[in-house]
Amino acid sequence: MILSKIRAQKDEGLAQVIAQVEDSHSTCFYCSEPLTFPAIEWMGSPEMICLHPDCATRLCIRIFRDVHEIQQKTEDGEQL
Ligand SMILES: [Zn+2]
Repeated sequence: MILSKIRAQKDEGLAQVIAQVEDSHSTCFYCSEPLTFPAIEWMGSPEMICLHPDCATRLCIRIFRDVHEIQQKTEDGEQL
């Protein structure tokens, strides 16, 4: 009984989070499509950055690629 009550409260909390994400009319920072649950949120400056999980992966790969490119050029002595 206690377990089912905890589970029900947990589900209610999760439902609220899902509703907040889907009702926020927020769009993904990367693809600009409406956010769905689950979403990733990061505090940016000046505002929150929200992403679909797959878009977060794509963005990270591109950021790492750009950092690698800058590091390569720096190591090769190229002017940036
Ligand atoms: Zn996205």
